[in-house]
Parts: sequence; C-alpha cells; structure tokens
Amino acid sequence: MIQWSEQQQMIQKMVRDFVEKEVVPQLDDIEYNGVPPYDILRKLIKTFGMDVMAQQNFEKQLARDKAKAAGESAKEKKKEGPSAMAGEEAAMRMIPIIEICRHAQGLVTAMGVSMGLAGGAIMSKGTIAQKERWALPLLTLEKVGAWAISEPNAGSDAFGQMKTLARRDGEGGYIINGSKTWITNGPFADTIILICKLDEEGVPAEQRKIVSFILDSGMEGLEQSKPFKKMGIGSSPTGELFLSDVRAGADRLLGGSEDSYGRSGAKGTFMQERAGVAAMALGMVERAMELSVQYANDRSQFGRPIGQNQLIQLKLAKMEVARSNLQNMVFRYIEMTAEGKQMTLAEASAMKLYAAQSAMEVATEAVQIHGGYGYMRESRVEQLMRDAKILQIYAGTDEMQIIAIAKDLLSRA
Ligand SMILES: Cc1cc2nc3c(=O)[nH]c(=O)nc-3n(C[C@H](O)[C@H](O)[C@H](O)COP(=O)(O)OP(=O)(O)OC[C@H]3O[C@@H](n4cnc5c(N)ncnc54)[C@H](O)[C@@H]3O)c2cc1C
Repeated sequence: MIQWSEQQQMIQKMVRDFVEKEVVPQLDDIEYNGVPPYDILRKLIKTFGMDVMAQQNFEKQLARDKAKAAGESAKEKKKEGPSAMAGEEAAMRMIPIIEICRHAQGLVTAMGVSMGLAGGAIMSKGTIAQKERWALPLLTLEKVGAWAISEPNAGSDAFGQMKTLARRDGEGGYIINGSKTWITNGPFADTIILICKLDEEGVPAEQRKIVSFILDSGMEGLEQSKPFKKMGIGSSPTGELFLSDVRAGADRLLGGSEDSYGRSGAKGTFMQERAGVAAMALGMVERAMELSVQYANDRSQFGRPIGQNQLIQLKLAKMEVARSNLQNMVFRYIEMTAEGKQMTLAEASAMKLYAAQSAMEVATEAVQIHGGYGYMRESRVEQLMRDAKILQIYAGTDEMQIIAIAKDLLSRA
C-alpha cells in the first residue's frame, strides 16, 4: 500500500467534512467548557455506519466462539483467515482517527479507550456470556467504557506497585478495595474493566495474581470522580475511581477465571494501543504542518514571507519527514492486518515512541513558526502542542517504550 485508494480518499473527505461541520464549531465546548464528548462521537459513529460494522463483527465473533465451544473451531477458523477485508476494516478504523486528531485528539482517546480497550478486552478475553452482556454497547459507544490499571503509586510499574486488591468472599465472589487514577472516561463510564491483584493469604505482594473484573457504574462502594483539569485533550474526560468493599460476583471476573486476563492480557492491550498512536500523530502532524506552511507564506517580516528563511524551511522540511514516516507506518499496519500478521513488541513500541516524539516536535515547531500568535489559543497550534504531550506519557511513556524495544531486541540474541 503506497497511498489511500480512491474509495478510501472519498471516505476521508466525508469524515473531514463531518469533523469540520460537526466538531470544529463545538471545539471550545468539548475542550474547555466541560461538555462531554460522547454525543458528538455517537453522531460520527452512526453517520459512518461504524456501529453497523461493529455489530456485524460482534455477531461474527460470537458465532465463531459458539461454534468453537461446540467443537467446530478448525472449520470456522479456516473460513475466517486473513483477507483484504481485514485490511479494509483497519483502514476504516485509521481514517477517522487521523481526521479527528487534526482538531481534537481527545475525542479519539475517549472513543479508543471505550471501544478499543474496554470493549476490546471483553471481546478478546471475556466469556460468551460476558460478551453478550457487556460488549456490544461498548463497541458502538451506546455505553461508555473505561480501562483502569494505573494507581497513584503504580504507573509505569503498574503490576509491581499495584495496591487495589480483590479478596475471595468465600461464596464464589470477591470484595474489591482500592483506587485508580488518571482513568480515561472514568467520570462517565458505564462499564469499567478493573485490573487489580488477588489478595491471597501467605502470597507475597509481588507474586500475587493479576485479575480483572467488569464493573458497572452505580455498584455499591464504587465512586467515580469528576473530570480532572489537565494540560490538553480536554475532550477526553479523565478521573479517579474509588472502591470500597465493592462486591463482584464470579460472573464479573473477566474471562471467567482468575487466570484469564492477568499480566499477559493487559500487555496484549498495550500493543493494540501503541499501534493506534501512529494514526493519531499523523493527523496532528498533518494539521500542524498545514497551518505552519500557510503561516510561513502569509506572515512577512523584514520585507519578505518568513518561509523564505532557511531556518523556517528546515522546520517545515522536518515536518514533512515526520508526516511521511507516520503515513508509511500507518500503511504498514494496515498491510500487516490484511495479511493477518502481528507486529513484534519492539516494532509496536518503536512506532509508538516515534509517533509520540514526532508529534510533540512538530507541534512545538508549529508554535515557534507562529511566534506570538502561536502562543494564543485562537491559533490552534498551541492546542496541538498540549495535546501531543500526552502521547509521550500514556499507553506507556517514551522511556518505557525504549526499555520495551531494547528488551525485545536483546532477548533475540
Ligand atoms: C490524560 C491521561 C489519561 C490516562 N488514561 C489512562 C487510562 O485510561 N487507564 C489507565 O490505567 N491509565 C491511564 N493513564 C495513566 C498513564 O498510563 C500513566 O500516567 C503512565 O503509565 C505513566 O505512569 P506515571 O504517571 O505514574 O509515571 P511514572 O511511572 O511515575 O513515571 C514518571 C517518570 O519516570 C520515568 N520512569 C519510570 N520508570 C522508569 C525506568 N525504569 N527507567 C527510566 N525512566 C523511568 C517515566 O518514563 C516518567 O518519565 C492516563 C494518564 C493520563 C495523563
């Protein structure tokens, strides 16, 4: 794949028109005035039939799961092998991410956590009954989902320092106590994937099992905070969760057993997240570059447009290098999906690291090119700069990506 197909370009244009008509006029409300992002997102999802696509995929997977449970797995799997359709679907997921991130990266964060992380965790590890009960409304954003691992003292070392504990209640259920912080959609989530440790007598903290639960908003003992005030991505509400003797039946244990969604399940989710960040960065870099080129032509100092200065030209050239690298990464991801191939941890992490750093560099230079105007909210490049910073922090910080890349490379020797 070296460029978007004609049909993909058509869809790209339709999404861009939608974003400019429906999102841009509401930017101040969703970014700065506390208006939740979900209604706009639902409109987008319905307009482009993403809900219908999600429902069809949901039904297909459920049919496969049921066939597998009935012992027909091999036959079904063969029919559903890698296909151009999988690539087409991956492209259809990437295009809205890129287009929305040109203006409001937070919308993609809120949508991605709900549909991809929370819905995706249930679809990949949940039992058939859990999929039927919780997954579809998350995959269509009818309901809002959150995915909660981080705690005040457990960020990069999420498993090592985790304090939230689930204790067996002796009747087949669990009692959960603890807290989670910086949780995307936390304040508004209807369904929460909560990752915690199993409190087993005599087992040292570092050896305790990681277990995950599907919780519903309104459960006794579960409190969801108001949204935090933060540097950027205002259109993605972030908050805290407090758990005080929350009683969860075994039906809420993700995957139906204490071994279903532990350390490796949560790590699998990191890989999905990392790949999506390249598309987010691409949208932001495209927009920052467009605004910068325009300003470099329009703004004159010392009797000529600032774009005539080599120092400004170098910044624009570096923006184009980043844009084309990110574009190629997104195309490679689509191609790999079409062929049913998985990225290695090193590759997914390298992609996330490059995407986050290049978005931050490009957005910072875009502000520089815009001078004083770039420091003003009205210019919109300042928002791109604030929004870009989060890409270097969530879904694994830059430093954690570097460690993951090096570990993966060294382990192959
Ligand atoms: C807006 C936002 C949304 C978020 N959404 C979610 C969510 O939906 N769900 C969720 O569970 N979490 C979420 N998070 C939390 C996020 O994943 C963490 O902030 C992130 O993992 C970093 O953890 P920390 O903030 O505790 O930083 P720390 O782990 O304390 O790190 C602080 C600094 O030290 C560095 N560092 C740490 N260890 C090492 C090391 N061994 N070597 C070198 N450097 C190191 C880090 O890279 C970082 O620069 C969100 C955070 C934000 C800000």
